Amino acid sequence: MNADINKFIVDLEKRTPGESEFHQAVEEVIISVWDYYSKNPRYIKAKILERMVEPERVIMFRVPWVDDRGDVQINRGYRVEFNSALGPYKGGLRFHASVTLSILKFLGFEQTFKNSLTTLPMGGGKGGSDFSPKGKTDSEIMRFCQSFMSELYRHIGPNTDVPAGDIGVGGREIGYLFGQYKRLKNEFTGVLTGKGLAWGGSLIRPEATGFGAVYFAQHMLHRIGKDIEGQTISVSGFGNVAWGTITKINELGGKVVTISGPDGYIYDADGIKGDKVEYLLELRATNNDIVQPYAQEFGAKFISGKHPWEIPVNLAIPCATENELNAEDAKELIKNGCKMVAEASNMGCTAGAVEILSEHIDYAPGKAVNAGGVAVSGLEMSQNSMRYNWLREEVDIRLKHIMKEIHETCVTYGKDGNKVDYVKGANIGGFVKVADAMLAQELCKSNHKYRLYIFIYPEIQ
Ligand code: GLU
Repeated sequence: MNADINKFIVDLEKRTPGESEFHQAVEEVIISVWDYYSKNPRYIKAKILERMVEPERVIMFRVPWVDDRGDVQINRGYRVEFNSALGPYKGGLRFHASVTLSILKFLGFEQTFKNSLTTLPMGGGKGGSDFSPKGKTDSEIMRFCQSFMSELYRHIGPNTDVPAGDIGVGGREIGYLFGQYKRLKNEFTGVLTGKGLAWGGSLIRPEATGFGAVYFAQHMLHRIGKDIEGQTISVSGFGNVAWGTITKINELGGKVVTISGPDGYIYDADGIKGDKVEYLLELRATNNDIVQPYAQEFGAKFISGKHPWEIPVNLAIPCATENELNAEDAKELIKNGCKMVAEASNMGCTAGAVEILSEHIDYAPGKAVNAGGVAVSGLEMSQNSMRYNWLREEVDIRLKHIMKEIHETCVTYGKDGNKVDYVKGANIGGFVKVADAMLAQELCKSNHKYRLYIFIYPEIQ
């Protein structure tokens, strides 16, 4: 690693001790953009990268709530408002026991670049809580959401910060959160995205992350003269992203043979199609966070405690969570003939896996592949501002167009001979717009002391 990059990372680690996920996300971006950055003295002079790795604002708060037994529970809530150069802070809320400030800083940082890639006017943010909906009743989740919003409402707004869903936050949670915001503010506005269709939501939003990921993978395949049709594909996770991904792959003639959960993975050689896809929604609704019941229901194989990357496939689409595919998995995929990894989860691959995959096959990072979700959130914001709803086809056309543009941006900045370095392409492509907007908007440079001096002692000017 070049000495300047190393110094940058060491300084960051000193200022933010223990935030390993955040360091990992920053390091990937810094390595990709460094050459481009160093050739632009105006960025260096303005310390754009140093500014970009510091969130504009971090809000941390207590979330007390009462469970069904009448006992008081305490969780921690967060909103990391990372960067507003391109628009209101925008990004999801994650409710999961693993949530820490480091995780939300990595996600907010990534979101800034991702949102920039979408071409829509959105800044970057992320929030959530260490509260896990797993095993909780509806009324407990409702009380938690109401308490969470009782603090968050004062920091967000349709032109300030627009949260949405992420792991553990779906339509049900967005409903409870929106209801509480409306009660407190007496305002019906597009302050959250991922809303129900009858009350301001957008068509295709639930499917958007998965659909977008497949549109992106399709462009990657077309570039090397292939198509989704006839491909055998492994998917991880079994939530909303996996569901949208599998639905679109089936529509385009591919075959998905795996899904996974915290308990292990399912191998279904016949393909996850038809009723089996809708069953994923039922499985998710049980709130138990396990995939094993799929094996009993459809006579497929369940492999306990493992990830699905040992199954031979042409293409892999991780759809679960960060660092779910490591260097060993990457080697196994390549050994078994996998030609492409399109990451639909945020930072789904470890740094070691990214290095191996990028060297041997085509690998594209989450911030490009999964940007369809937040892109349709951006379209939901547009529809809310117009007080109008687009048809399904209209939203889908826009989503397809956005994914095509993101792929082109990756190729523009990442082309390297016959290959495309999608990591470099996505990071530089995302960086340029945010950096230029930050330069244009400048920072507060007025010298207050000097002004005061002139005012008090006008005679010695
Ligand atoms: N949580 C999604 C993401 O990681 C969507 C965010 C949004 O719609 O604001 O991009």
